[in-house]
Amino acid sequence: MGTTQLPGGAGKNVLGIDPACPRCQEPLTAPHMLLHCQNHKAQRDHLEAALHFHGLVLNLSNVFDPKGAARGPVFSARPFCI
Ligand SMILES: [Zn+2]
Repeated sequence: MGTTQLPGGAGKNVLGIDPACPRCQEPLTAPHMLLHCQNHKAQRDHLEAALHFHGLVLNLSNVFDPKGAARGPVFSARPFCI
């Protein structure tokens, strides 16, 4: 996922793109969207449950590159187009 494609990255350099999350007013970056934003809480809860089932915690490393048996279930639970 190219973080520069998210408003939090692109908005720093491109006029007309608000780099802030419309709900939280935090920079709209991959960590914010995937780990913290309340707009995606329901989807994140589903993803986090899939990770926990396989003994993994919710962090960027496990979201982007889950290990072992968690790989399939986590990929199918990822709600975002990543
Ligand atoms: Zn947000």
